[in-house]
Amino acid sequence: MRRTRNVKIVATLGPASSSYEMIRALHEAGTDVFRLNMSHGTHDDIAERHKVIRAVENDVGRPIGILADLQGPKLRVGPFANGSEDLEEGQAFRLDLEGKPGDATRVQLPHREIFEALEVGATLLVNDGKIRLRVEEHGPDYANCTVTVSGTISDRKGVNVPDVVLPLAALSEKDKIDLEFACELGVDWLALSFVQRAEDVFEARDLAKGRAALMSKIEKPAAVKAFDAILDASDGIMVARGDLGVECPISAVPPMQKRMVRKCRNAAKPVIVATQMLESMIESPIPTRAEVSDVAAAIYEGTDAVMLSAESAVGQYPTEAVATMNNVAIEVENDPTYRDVIDASRGGPKQSVADGIVSAAREIAETADIKVICCYSQSGSTASLVARERPHVPIIAMTSKLGTARRMALTWGLHCLKTDEVDRFKSAVLNSARAAVSEGFADPSDFLVVTAGVPFGKSGTTNILRVAPCDERLIIPADPE
Ligand code: PEP
Repeated sequence: MRRTRNVKIVATLGPASSSYEMIRALHEAGTDVFRLNMSHGTHDDIAERHKVIRAVENDVGRPIGILADLQGPKLRVGPFANGSEDLEEGQAFRLDLEGKPGDATRVQLPHREIFEALEVGATLLVNDGKIRLRVEEHGPDYANCTVTVSGTISDRKGVNVPDVVLPLAALSEKDKIDLEFACELGVDWLALSFVQRAEDVFEARDLAKGRAALMSKIEKPAAVKAFDAILDASDGIMVARGDLGVECPISAVPPMQKRMVRKCRNAAKPVIVATQMLESMIESPIPTRAEVSDVAAAIYEGTDAVMLSAESAVGQYPTEAVATMNNVAIEVENDPTYRDVIDASRGGPKQSVADGIVSAAREIAETADIKVICCYSQSGSTASLVARERPHVPIIAMTSKLGTARRMALTWGLHCLKTDEVDRFKSAVLNSARAAVSEGFADPSDFLVVTAGVPFGKSGTTNILRVAPCDERLIIPADPE
């Protein structure tokens, strides 16, 4: 199955989307990567969804990426006896360490460190900042607050404390257990929540030991400040606008998003723009005009991927939400303005052989009526560099490593294929020509550009470019080793 757009779609799975039929429908509607949210559901739920995604992958014959999103040191209240409570402005409400279910007067906040770090007068934001509490008095295991902005509080809602620097470890004990569990399952990406510094990523890398790529979620002011170092330490970035818009002034989020997307493209690392993209579709089959514009704006900016959260996890219209993103992407990418913007924001080639090769691959493809660029890539680095060029022609990313193919499912424009291992460039060209025709990108009478790093199997050696016929009969006699 070939997508007719370059930007990728990430859909979060949840109770509304855990059956084989639904996950397959979401993939067919356009989902390239599924997100498993470790903040919700048991390990059994996660393992079951993972198994179903792999079954769909097997049945459709296309690599599918799986992203496990670790909860991180996110503060959440405990459960309520009635599931939720309405808090009125001016009423008292207590947060404490007691394990019993919450009611209209109190709920558990199972984080001792927060009570120790709080200050009288500090603001606590609950449920994406919808509810505000002011701290009146606190001890080592409680905080008595006044509700200053009313709202409904429900089970396990998030709590942000923007005024106070919290002494939180990058990975909680739960995260460490979840990380090991997700790596053992075989997920392709791990998303790290509430990263504050590059060292947080190094800590996760030590634990992941290369079993999954690492994506840093940018949702704290500290992460925005340390962005360059975090990007350098990470394999990808998520602009996690939900918490970012709570922790920082909400009006500052769009320019932050633009800057981060630009930097990620420049670094050839995939970036996801996430949260509330089609929020109204949780309950409505039709999105608002503003939501459609938000998705379109992220695509015009050049993001690698756009993401659905509650829309696909708990919403009433998961497949419609994916189809909406798919349609918006097709419209935007067919707009000549999109091309102008994407071309104008391309950074100049950097000073390396690999950068020269991928820049040349794009220029040749765009000036010589080449139908497709094929990258032979073990680690995915050549393909990522070609994707950074945002060429006008499609890109096929060929790799003998299934894990690489799945990981690259997140990257702009890459049509990923698992292929046989090769030891000679001639075999790579032959496989590329076959794939270009069989995957529907070219006719045998067309030409393609092939890039690779030789010797094969050594990462970061992009050093070869060839224009070749797509007719494999013309390759073998003419081609050197
Ligand atoms: C976000 O805050 O935007 C986000 C993606 O994180 P989560 O959904 O885990 O809160």
